[in-house]
This record gives sequence, C-alpha cells and structure tokens, in this order.
Amino acid sequence: MYEFEYVRPKSVAEAAGFLAANGEARLMSGGMTLLPTMKQRLAQASHLVHVGPLGELKSITREGDLLVVGSAATHDQVQDSEVVRAAVPALAKLARGIGDPQVRYMGTIGGSIANNDPAADYPAGVLGLGATVVTHLRQIAADDYFQGLFTTALAEGEIVTAVRFPVPRRAGYVKFAHPATGYAMSGVFVAETGGGVRVAVTGAGNGVFRWAEAEAALAKSMSAQALDGLALDASHFSEDIHATREYRAQLCRVMAARAVNELLG
Ligand SMILES: Cc1cc2nc3c(=O)[nH]c(=O)nc-3n(C[C@H](O)[C@H](O)[C@H](O)COP(=O)(O)OP(=O)(O)OC[C@H]3O[C@@H](n4cnc5c(N)ncnc54)[C@H](O)[C@@H]3O)c2cc1C
Repeated sequence: MYEFEYVRPKSVAEAAGFLAANGEARLMSGGMTLLPTMKQRLAQASHLVHVGPLGELKSITREGDLLVVGSAATHDQVQDSEVVRAAVPALAKLARGIGDPQVRYMGTIGGSIANNDPAADYPAGVLGLGATVVTHLRQIAADDYFQGLFTTALAEGEIVTAVRFPVPRRAGYVKFAHPATGYAMSGVFVAETGGGVRVAVTGAGNGVFRWAEAEAALAKSMSAQALDGLALDASHFSEDIHATREYRAQLCRVMAARAVNELLG
C-alpha cells in the first residue's frame, strides 16, 4: 500500500471542499472495495476522505412515495431497516445477500454505486426501481447514472449523498451468487412501478442494463411464463472460467423468472 493521509471531515461540505483542493484525494465510505485495491497497489490516493461515519449520510426515511437511503447507510442497516422492509422488501433482501457479515457491516450503498462493479447488486436495485442518485451538486436519474464497467455519471470529486427510490407496487430480486464472493454471476431485479415494469440485470455483462424485451413481455402478463422463449443477446456478455456467455444468458432468464415469482409472492 502506498502512503496516504487519513482525513475525517465533519460534513459533506467540508469533504467536498477538501476534494476540490486536493486533486489526488479519494473519498472512502465503507472502504470494502477501496482498501483492498489500495493494498494491491491498484489504486493510490494522497488522502482518504472518510465520509462513511457522517450522520447526515446515514439516514433511511420514507418521504411520501419515496424511500430515501443515505449514501453511507451500510448494507447491514438496509437489510435490517423496518422502513426499507415495509417499503421495498426486495431491496432489504438484496442488501442481505451482499458478501458476508463483515462486508455488510462496513460496505455502503453509496460506495457500491459509485464503484459500479459489473457484478454488484445495488446497481440492479437502483436501475430496476428507476431511482434517482442524489449528489452534493445535483440529482441523476438511474437511467443516466450507470455508464458501463466501473463507470458512472459522477464527476471528479462529486459526492453521492443519497438514493431516492420510488416505492414500487411490487418488486423481486434474485441472483445466482458466485460461491466465493457472493457477487452476482447474474442478478435480476423486476419492479412494477407507477411508470411501468422495469427489469434490470447485473453480473452478466459490462455493467447493469435494462432488459427491454422482458419489460414488454411482463407489462402484458406478469408471470414467469411470459419470459419463455425470450431472446437475450449474449454477444456483449462476460465470459470467464466461471461461465460462458451463453450460460450467463440462461442464468439471466432463470433469475428473471424467479424474480417474477418472488414479486408475485
Ligand atoms: C469479500 C467481498 C465480497 C463482496 N461481495 C459483494 C456482493 O456479493 N455484492 C455486492 O454488490 N458487492 C459485494 N462486495 C462489495 C461491497 O458491497 C462494497 O461495500 C462496495 O462495493 C463498496 O462500498 P464501500 O462503502 O465499501 O465503498 P468504498 O470502498 O469506500 O469506495 C468504493 C469507491 O466508491 C467511491 N465512493 C465511496 N463513497 C462515495 C460517495 N459517497 N460518493 C462518491 N464516491 C464514493 C470511492 O472513492 C471508491 O472509488 C464485496 C466486497 C468484498 C470485499
């Protein structure tokens, strides 16, 4: 690990000011991704600006038809939150399925969606629910936020402060977890929202994406059978020692059907 200095800001404003004045400084929330990458010397920072402990980023509230989750809310907090369980049980389940207890105790929703790992779970929930990512500067629709492999719409030094989830009528999330890490080899989030049916897939390709054919089929008939025979272009899917492209495509179809069954209760 290269040397760095640890900075503990007292507010988001102070963190933003520090980042603006120190171009090589990096934000840290739970550190569950950043610290291992720094230990491997794949990432470097002059300062780690630790926003994870900031109370103003930790709240989880229901505001009318929105569920608002602070960016420093840990996976553990989300999985156990009565507010989340009542508003979007599928999101509590998603958080419960991330990694192991240590990762869930430290890792946060803000760090997860800022990192945008192509096999992470939260991107599927955020895109599947048509959420809005709130930063200290602006609000970004999920459809514009995720931009492929470890890439988002965030600008340099922009701090995610919360995610606003429209509360869906019903939703379901099922993943096929990698046995060693828990990351999704395929994870599908299906939501019936005021704006229609949304289906978001993680783990299969270069980043989370919406499956338009499945959305159209489920809008006509919300049943697992509606997905039978749907084509899924696997040409852009990942292929590695764990799974071929075609296998991942098949996993997506199966996970989508299971997510629909979960949504239907
Ligand atoms: C063993 C292991 C298993 C895991 N399994 C899973 C899994 O099954 N599913 C899954 O989805 N994830 C998994 N993860 C990842 C885990 O969810 C991490 O918590 C998450 O990827 C990063 O969150 P963090 O809060 O730790 O972010 P950090 O490591 O603190 O930061 C990650 C990145 O986001 C940036 N960042 C952090 N906070 C903000 C912010 N507020 N605004 C803007 N940028 C910010 C940082 O600068 C950094 O680039 C696993 C991790 C480990 C180590």
